[in-house]
Amino acid sequence: MKKIVLSLAIVSLLFSCNKQEDSITTTDGNLAETVGKRGCYSDEHLKDQLAADPTLAKRMEEFELKAAEAIAQGRIVNGVLEIPVVFNVLYRTTAENISLAQLQSQIDVLNKDFNAQNSDYNTANNPYSSVRANVGIRFVLDQVIRKSTTKSSWGTADAMKKANRGGLAPTSPTTKLNIWVCTIGGGILGYAQFPGGSSATDGVVLDGKYTGTTGTATYPFNLGRTATHEVGHWMNLRHIWGDATCGTDSVSDTPVHNAANYGVPAVGHRSTCSGTPLEMYMNYMDYTDDRGMYMFSGGQKTRMLAIFDVGGSRASFR
Ligand SMILES: [Zn+2]
Repeated sequence: MKKIVLSLAIVSLLFSCNKQEDSITTTDGNLAETVGKRGCYSDEHLKDQLAADPTLAKRMEEFELKAAEAIAQGRIVNGVLEIPVVFNVLYRTTAENISLAQLQSQIDVLNKDFNAQNSDYNTANNPYSSVRANVGIRFVLDQVIRKSTTKSSWGTADAMKKANRGGLAPTSPTTKLNIWVCTIGGGILGYAQFPGGSSATDGVVLDGKYTGTTGTATYPFNLGRTATHEVGHWMNLRHIWGDATCGTDSVSDTPVHNAANYGVPAVGHRSTCSGTPLEMYMNYMDYTDDRGMYMFSGGQKTRMLAIFDVGGSRASFR
């Protein structure tokens, strides 16, 4: 099954060169339409990287197999893992040079969301309350590196991670989570690199306007959930709709979705996929507004923890 999924990913690459240009043009051209709707570039970024590096697909497949083995053998550690976070802040304007308080507010949200301590964890009428998970991973602010630049937007091709393109190279990327905070552009709130990619570009990118809960944090993405979603990708989670109509996210306890949900869906929203399942629209890996997402599932937790197991793609973080 995983081989089929990977093959499909490779097949989709055949279209990615054209599709990528189209989507960027469309996103830019229709910026007015996309304002207010969540935009994450992680899946497209992966397709870009698979196209650029012929060895990446095989590496990712090997890590998938190791993760599946760790899950099957019950080797997933349940102790609390602590991940040091390095913020790389790239700014042109004073507003873009976001405050330490705003960065700390982002760390606080990650710690709440990954430890079932978020105030909306017990939201009433959650039809999926029985599969909610306390992931049990903590984040600690390790360093803030700031750099003044002349760029007004950084795009989605990793320029912010490269010193020779005006950005900042990651600090200790095999043991620390690097988060770049900058203006991305094109209606993109953030994107992550999935496990298996090059350590030189490893980490998460966030637009400063969608970072943390204070300062320049902008409604409806002002509750720090863009980072929760992107760190989910960084820990190997896919979008809940599997980036395809009625697609799979390779997690057994999440339902099939038609597509991304936006805003805050009505309670009881169902997909028209086979069996019309109730969608898990309150999951962090959907596209809803920050106030509409408040849980990971147990299956997602297992998938995330698997990458930190012995031989896993992020075992060096243990
Ligand atoms: Zn995403």
